[in-house]
Amino acid sequence: MHTIGVVGLGNMGRGMALSLRRGGFEVVGYDPAPAARAAIEADGITVAEGLPALWRDCDAVVLSLPTSEVVEAVLLGADGPLSRAQETGLLIVDTSTSDPAVTRRIAAALEPAGIDLIDAPVSGGPKGAHAATLTMVLGGSDAALARAEPVLAAMSATRVHVGGVGAGHVTKLANNLLCAAHLITAAEAVRMAKEAGVEPARLLAGINAGSGRSGVTQVNFPTWVLNGAFDSGFTMKLMRKDVRLAESLIGALALDLPLSAQVGQLWRESAEIPDDADFNAIVTLQLA
Ligand code: NAD
Repeated sequence: MHTIGVVGLGNMGRGMALSLRRGGFEVVGYDPAPAARAAIEADGITVAEGLPALWRDCDAVVLSLPTSEVVEAVLLGADGPLSRAQETGLLIVDTSTSDPAVTRRIAAALEPAGIDLIDAPVSGGPKGAHAATLTMVLGGSDAALARAEPVLAAMSATRVHVGGVGAGHVTKLANNLLCAAHLITAAEAVRMAKEAGVEPARLLAGINAGSGRSGVTQVNFPTWVLNGAFDSGFTMKLMRKDVRLAESLIGALALDLPLSAQVGQLWRESAEIPDDADFNAIVTLQLA
């Protein structure tokens, strides 16, 4: 692995591109948004004019894109890697949070051309992307993962292989559904305790020493909620997408999961919180 492409140079992709360069790779980016292109060019990373140059010049291409629809358009569209002349061996690493069914369909379409896709959705936010401390949950074959390891290691501190293609995206949706739920349940617990005369910071110290703690009580509340910062770099729009994807997976499996359904409804009904607000703002339903 020598040259790595990064498609999608937003909050996450930009940091990943910089981490890959620090890891010793040649990095070429692509993003249609002028602001994203300008920011990464100011960092000294070359931005290609179009996608075909990436498929031609790169050994692996990392995607950090908003939705499955965009991932599908990039990979199976007219400018996708299937346009790369008969060469095989290209590796695609999709770090976007995506619909696992779409991921599996894309992987099946690319496989006959010798193109491996692994899903490598991430936790850790833009800070983790810049510092190469992301956590990745990985879906793909053992062989593809072994080939990808140097690329993944340049972007992440923790990697968990959870199954074949699509398993990473299933796991990420389960993780984010829990995070979406925990934000609401933690906000309700803080509200209850406040009304009963316990200060939020002291309440959290108690909870975090006990069995009710979660990533939300240990990280989100102290880092982004109680200090009023709400600057995690992960938006309401993206978390709404993840909750919707989890709901649609539950629906496709014809499962009756009542608490998950309620979480989905609360996130859908939070329309007064704008899409570009920080995702932690969901707590304002209880803690305005
Ligand atoms: P973002 O909106 O900041 O960046 C997405 C980038 O993709 C934008 O720069 C956009 O111009 C670009 N893009 C759109 N269409 C494109 C196309 N056809 N070709 C190339 N680029 C295109 O989003 P983000 O916060 O960086 O998130 C990216 C992905 O990572 C999402 O799937 C998100 O759910 C996931 N994620 C984000 C975070 C976070 O904290 N921000 C954490 C974990 C996972």
